[in-house]
Amino acid sequence: MKLLSAVVPCYNEEENIADFYQEFMKNEAFFRENGVELELWYIDDGSRDNTVSEVKKLIEADERVHLLSFSRNFGKEAAIYAGLEKSNGDYVVFMDADLQDPPALLPEMYGYLDKGYDSVATRRVDRKGEPPIRSFFARVFYRLMRKISRTEIMDGARDYRLMTRKVVDAILSMPEYNRFSKGIFGWVGFDTKWLEFDNIERKKGETKWSFWKLFLYSIDGITAFSTVPLAFASVMGVLFCLGSFALIIFTIVRKAMFGDPTSGWPSLVCIISMISGVQLFCLGIVGQYLAKTYMEVKKRPIYLVKEEI
Ligand code: UDP
Ligand code: MG
Repeated sequence: MKLLSAVVPCYNEEENIADFYQEFMKNEAFFRENGVELELWYIDDGSRDNTVSEVKKLIEADERVHLLSFSRNFGKEAAIYAGLEKSNGDYVVFMDADLQDPPALLPEMYGYLDKGYDSVATRRVDRKGEPPIRSFFARVFYRLMRKISRTEIMDGARDYRLMTRKVVDAILSMPEYNRFSKGIFGWVGFDTKWLEFDNIERKKGETKWSFWKLFLYSIDGITAFSTVPLAFASVMGVLFCLGSFALIIFTIVRKAMFGDPTSGWPSLVCIISMISGVQLFCLGIVGQYLAKTYMEVKKRPIYLVKEEI
C-alpha cells in the first residue's frame, strides 16, 4: 500500500475541521481501490478558538488523523513547511481547511500522477466573490512578477497541490525563512500538470488575510524571487546622472548666450524634492532586501511546536 498525506493549515477554523474531514474521506473508497491509504495532518497555526479540540475529537475516532499545534501564529507558509516535514506519505497534498480547495478533485489529480506527472497543481479561473479591489491588485502583482522573476508564478494558482515524495524532498531542501510557496513550487520545477476550477466561496468562518497582510506577503514574494527592484535602483541612478549632465550643459549654454544663470528657484525646489523622493524610494528597496537577508541570517526556526499527536 502507498500512503497519501493531506496537509491542512488551520488558523481559527473550528467550524470547518469536521466538515473538511467528512468531505476528504469521501475519496477513501477510490484511493483504497488504487492501493493508497490516507492520512490527514491538521496543522494548527496558533488558533485561539476550538480548532485544537475539534481535531482531537477526530483523532479519538480515527487514528489516521494527526495534529501539529504551533506555539503561536507563524503564518500559512510555516504551516505548509511543517506539514511537509511531518507527513510520511509517498504523495502529499496541501488543502485549505475552508473547503475552497474541493476534495472531490483529488481522484482526477491522482490520475495524472499515475500518468507520470510529478506534481498536479490547481488554479482558479475566476475570482468571483472577492472584493474587486483585491482582485485588481492580485492581477497587478502576478503581471509584475511575470516580468521581473524568472520563476514561473501562475495567476490564480492555489496552494492546492498534489505531489510525489521526490518533489516534497526538493521543497524540504529549501529551508529558507522568508517563504513564498507559489514561487518555491515553480522554482523546484518537475513535470507539473495544471488543473483549473471555478472559484468556490468560503462557506464558514472568515478569510484570515487582510489587505495589509496580503500586501506584505506580496513584498515577500517579490524579494524572494526577483532582484530586479535592486537593478531598478541602479538604472534610476544612471538616468538621473544623465539628466543632470544635460541640465549642466543647458545652464552653461544659457549663461554664455543670455547671461541669466540666477533665476529658477521654484524649478530647483521641484527637482530637489523629486530626486530626494527617488533616493529614499531606492534606499527603501535596498532596505527591504537587507531586512530579508537579516532575518535569513538569524536562522530562526520557521515554526515552534506546542503539541504533536
Ligand atoms: N491560515 C493559516 N495561518 C494564517 C492564515 C491562514 O494556517 O495565518 C490557513 C487558513 O486556516 C486556511 C488557509 O490558510 O486553511 C487559507 O486561508 P484563508 O481561507 O483565510 O485565505 P483565502 O482563501 O481567503 O485566501
Ligand atoms: Mg480560503
